[in-house]
Amino acid sequence: MQLFSIFGNPVSHSRSPLMHNCVFKNLNYEACYTRTHLLDGDKLKETFFALGLSGANVTVPHKEAAFNACDEVRGFAKKVGVVNTLVEEKGKLIGYNTDADGFMYAISEFKNIKNILVLGAGGTAKALVSRFLEDDLQVSVLNRSASRLEYFQTLDCKSFTWDDFKIQKYDLVVNTTSAGLKDENLPAPQNLIEQILQHTNYVADAIYGKLTPFLKMAKNRNITFKDGADMLLGQGVLANELFVNNVLKKEDIKREMQKSFKL
Ligand code: NDP
Repeated sequence: MQLFSIFGNPVSHSRSPLMHNCVFKNLNYEACYTRTHLLDGDKLKETFFALGLSGANVTVPHKEAAFNACDEVRGFAKKVGVVNTLVEEKGKLIGYNTDADGFMYAISEFKNIKNILVLGAGGTAKALVSRFLEDDLQVSVLNRSASRLEYFQTLDCKSFTWDDFKIQKYDLVVNTTSAGLKDENLPAPQNLIEQILQHTNYVADAIYGKLTPFLKMAKNRNITFKDGADMLLGQGVLANELFVNNVLKKEDIKREMQKSFKL
């Protein structure tokens, strides 16, 4: 029996175990998916092998540590330095990123997206911004601290802290901060969020399973919004495909994983 896990801090909120176990159980794939509360990202690799895992997902705040832990990083993850999916291959740790394509799947129903504001500058923001730029979208990044913006200054996008922010008209604003995940914080000061919401057609949040204060404000202003559930589904399907190494069909994985959202 293969064992999989999600690493994070916090990790108790994660729906990944339910999603992947639903696929394994309903499609008779001999595997079990658990969760691991990991405090120190530097211990990721040794913990992965000590638990005898075949694969794992990685969430806040360890996605950059996961990149560093890998023996080999493949595909889009290599470009962004952020890993959310780990697979054991012949005793080696292989890293991938399925978040960005999962998010593109999630916003495919939003039309005419050309100009995007990303709130936050962590691992998720890096992955999404690089993916948006691949599609020639215009991107601005707004973050609380200046230090994390250095990476974005090397890219073809605008980047701001709360103090030097210059607002524009956006088609979509995405919250990739963890503000609202375990607290009731907004991703930026309320007056900034109010201005931003007056300048966008759509709003998305990477956080799922709750209406964050940011989404509540969007809802109150009748802006079309979505939480991170579809992003979660998209990245989960792509991760599961890697876990089972093409033994299961993508459409079967998606159908069974979707059922877990109704549980
Ligand atoms: P990181 O820890 O890499 O980055 C966190 C970011 O949030 C930083 O830019 C940080 O700013 C900012 N931040 C944290 N707290 C606050 C706050 N109180 N106010 C303003 N900014 C804040 O996290 P990740 O990028 O890995 O994940 C971010 C979020 O996305 C999480 O909530 C995670 O659950 C969610 N997520 C959802 C997915 C899905 O499938 N739906 C997939 C991936 C992530 P600073 O630099 O100033 O510290």
